[in-house]
Amino acid sequence: MAQHFLLSPQARSVSILSVASMSEKRAYAKLKRIMWDANGGKPICPHCGGLDHWELEDDRKWRCKGCRKSFSLTSETIFKDRKLSFRKILAACVIFANGVMGVSACRLSRELDISYKSAWVLLQKVRDALGQNEETAQLAGVVEIDGAVFGGSMPRLPNSKKLWEEFKRKNKAAAKKRQKLIVVMRERDDPETGKTGKLRTFLLPKEGDAIPIARDILLPDTIVHADMSPQWEPLQLLFETKRINHSEHFSHDGACTNMAESFFERMRSAERGVHKHISGAHLHRYAMELAWKEQNRRVSNGEQAAMMISAVGKAPPSKTLVGYWQGRKGKPSGNGNSSGPANDQDDDAIAYLTGRTAV
Ligand SMILES: [Zn+2]
Repeated sequence: MAQHFLLSPQARSVSILSVASMSEKRAYAKLKRIMWDANGGKPICPHCGGLDHWELEDDRKWRCKGCRKSFSLTSETIFKDRKLSFRKILAACVIFANGVMGVSACRLSRELDISYKSAWVLLQKVRDALGQNEETAQLAGVVEIDGAVFGGSMPRLPNSKKLWEEFKRKNKAAAKKRQKLIVVMRERDDPETGKTGKLRTFLLPKEGDAIPIARDILLPDTIVHADMSPQWEPLQLLFETKRINHSEHFSHDGACTNMAESFFERMRSAERGVHKHISGAHLHRYAMELAWKEQNRRVSNGEQAAMMISAVGKAPPSKTLVGYWQGRKGKPSGNGNSSGPANDQDDDAIAYLTGRTAV
């Protein structure tokens, strides 16, 4: 049996020790090289894309000769108002790449010695950037489509057995209301070329809402696999479709959605084992992150960190996350791989920290 990629030496191309021993100047040079890779690490104006510039006397600032606006490495990116050092941002990207099931803000705050709030916002910004990077990706070949609900965890059972039934009845309904649906569209890997399939995830009120999205992002000759849910019926009018009855088989006559289910298993493992609780208001970001990790699962950690930094360099400042903890919560933009309605009245991050799991 072939060795698992994560056990191979190719999976390790950077270590947190190498980042920790870097000076701030070297970390800055590294980020600059990756973020402005298209121009060989030299400045690119974020306002007009111009390559000609003057160097300003202020350290690490330039003025564009085209639009005459000044800019720095993080201008017009999600790290526009960053307070963290470049070394910590670089280290955060490596830690984030190393967590194959995701990284919790609590862990990052302890690893980098930054506040929980800074760690939480930093991670959400990186998730946003990864999603935005994949926003226009189209899928082709054989695509599996499926939906699953997440969130809405129940609080701990009371000590007295007598109260269990009453407790479950009361809390189950409330927990169900807080559950949100994620629909995944996943390309199967191509065995001939060895190309890993792409994934797109969407936060939607119901599975049927994914039909118009599938029409837009799947190429016309795509073969779609779906389960027997009546909501997938219209897919048959748009694509060659294979259906699998899960009450009888997991795979039958070439039809299966096992790869889509495998992605949901990664999400469930992350929800249970890493984050403990994922709030519905931010579920789409976690889905984007895990979809990105799934499609880059055979890429080394150093390359993943570089891809993340590159995505950060292209993503505009987040309207939702700027000033999040100062009470300036914008409406979720639905940017990125996932989209759909999400209420943003969310104190679940604090609830988790204080042990109050609201249901
Ligand atoms: Zn410019």
